[in-house]
Amino acid sequence: MQMKILVVGGAGYIGSHMVKRLALGGHEVVVLDDLSTGFASQVKWGRLVVGSTADTERLASLFGENRFDGVMHFAGSSLVGESVAAPARYYRNNVAHTLNLLDAMVSHGVRHFVFSSTAAVYGEPVAVPIGEAHPRSPINPYGASKWMVERVLQDYAAAYRLNSVSLRYFNASGADPDGELGECHDPETHLIPLVLQSASGRGGPVTVFGRDYPTPDGTCIRDYVHVTDLCEAHALALEAMASGRCKGAMTFNLGNEEGASVHAVIDVAQELVRQDGYEIAVREGSRRPGDPAVLVADSSLARQTLGWQPQFGRLSQIVAHAWHWEKALARQDG
Ligand code: UDP
Repeated sequence: MQMKILVVGGAGYIGSHMVKRLALGGHEVVVLDDLSTGFASQVKWGRLVVGSTADTERLASLFGENRFDGVMHFAGSSLVGESVAAPARYYRNNVAHTLNLLDAMVSHGVRHFVFSSTAAVYGEPVAVPIGEAHPRSPINPYGASKWMVERVLQDYAAAYRLNSVSLRYFNASGADPDGELGECHDPETHLIPLVLQSASGRGGPVTVFGRDYPTPDGTCIRDYVHVTDLCEAHALALEAMASGRCKGAMTFNLGNEEGASVHAVIDVAQELVRQDGYEIAVREGSRRPGDPAVLVADSSLARQTLGWQPQFGRLSQIVAHAWHWEKALARQDG
């Protein structure tokens, strides 16, 4: 089934990979992105419209000019530390501006919405692995803002028959297996790109944020999931709504159900970059506020309901794709 899809935030890390997946799947793609954190150069398929979800007139004209079959929304602010320092920005961008988008969908009769949510909606886990029914008690404005939108989506499903799938990502990572896209954040704060930038020379030593966690090696454990696998889940969610299999407001965790510690990530990366003659410099640091010790998903619901089967679940594969991309960026920088 060919569809016309609006990808909001399609110039960002995950959104740009999504645009590729949709375009190769034969869908027509329009990207709306204000380029505040994304890059026009990352929109390699589809049509880029530079604009913001803050701009309700722009949204009205975009929805008036195009008959979209569905909307995917990646344009959130997503840094925990920043959200603690600037909550107003997070609630405005992630909640208020998302309402603008949802209202434009409702007034133009667009019925299917895929939303980028996060494991941060759970807060400090009370049980691991984390299933969708785990209590939602976010501990920072970023997680709270995403949970608020999930709640809004439940009410919009009931009142306006807006179907939605909220996908709670664990640690999005890796890069396009063909080497055409990858992670570009400025500033970069995520572990895997920082580790690899330390090797390529584009960054300094990577700091391990705490070695005194109650985990086997004392460092935080996360569930790293490949960006291409995340995008596949979005495509499946859209198809499930379009075919009527998913109705109302549904929520799924996306992770590999396997934890890797910060130390393990550095070890895997170190082995890989040494094969190319590079070395990662590591230094010890203190804990980063707001980091739970362990976040690992139970993703069985996405597997069963959406038929999601991650293809790039091995950490070595995720890091290898990210390293391929990092080397390309380092070559560009000369
Ligand atoms: N981390 C680290 N050093 C860094 C960046 C991250 O030790 O320079 C740790 C961080 O404390 C967390 C894990 O790596 O335990 C993953 O962090 P990231 O920022 O990549 O993703 P998040 O879990 O915040 O979504």
